[in-house]
Amino acid sequence: VKDYSFESLFSFDGYAEKLPDGKYRIVKKKTFIDDLTKLPNPDWSWMEFDIYNQNPNDPLVAGLPIMCTRGCPNNCTYCSSKLYWGQRFLYRPIEKVIEEILSSYNQYGIKNFSVVDDNPAFDKNWFLKFCQSYRKMPQDINISFNNFSIKTVDQDVIDGLKIIRQNKITIAIETGSQGMQKHINKRLDLKDAAAKVDLLKKNKIRMHVAWMIGFPNETMGQINETVNMAKKLRTYSIQVFPVFPFPGTKLYEEANHKAS
Ligand code: SF4
Repeated sequence: VKDYSFESLFSFDGYAEKLPDGKYRIVKKKTFIDDLTKLPNPDWSWMEFDIYNQNPNDPLVAGLPIMCTRGCPNNCTYCSSKLYWGQRFLYRPIEKVIEEILSSYNQYGIKNFSVVDDNPAFDKNWFLKFCQSYRKMPQDINISFNNFSIKTVDQDVIDGLKIIRQNKITIAIETGSQGMQKHINKRLDLKDAAAKVDLLKKNKIRMHVAWMIGFPNETMGQINETVNMAKKLRTYSIQVFPVFPFPGTKLYEEANHKAS
């Protein structure tokens, strides 16, 4: 080997490198896979499922990850999704997703699946068709969605969730401050978000809600707005993330600028 540089040894398209001084360097991706029909199913043959199946009754613990759609066209300042998928939304053919689930079920006896998509109902038509196709699934298969955008929730989507026997979803509201919603470019209308939480409750769908605290320049008043909204919504469960600026995001630039 004549050249030990990172680029020479690892010619990945898009990566983050930690430099000796502790800083990070981002080399942006230049190409993305456009045609998801060509992706093979993941090879799980090496996986020792018995070790992980400690609590097979909880699909959130024991769900095999599966990706049905890829990416999100939104542009929240803290989100790193666009760095690896591009700022766009693609979906797999529904029959390929169903085939992947059935293949893991038949080959390994997996019954719980955890959808890791960023914004699975962004294309409502795709999502509703997926729900209809899911009707043919064996009754002992469970699927759970981990990142559901509250913007996409309406009665049609909720009816779809019922078809796929979904009684709990995870949604991210992040901040209860309308001003901070704008600042982080999440741009949820908080009244609308609260109304959708009510709609989900009326339909007996439990929610796990993600919140974030510690944005640069966030005031105690804004943090209290988040705490108050989380209390007021009284969802099934919540998680509160301390803000972490991922290299390559706008939030990272903002945090760096504030630190310098
Ligand atoms: S809506 Fe979610 S996935 Fe989309 S950009 Fe915002 S944080 Fe990322």
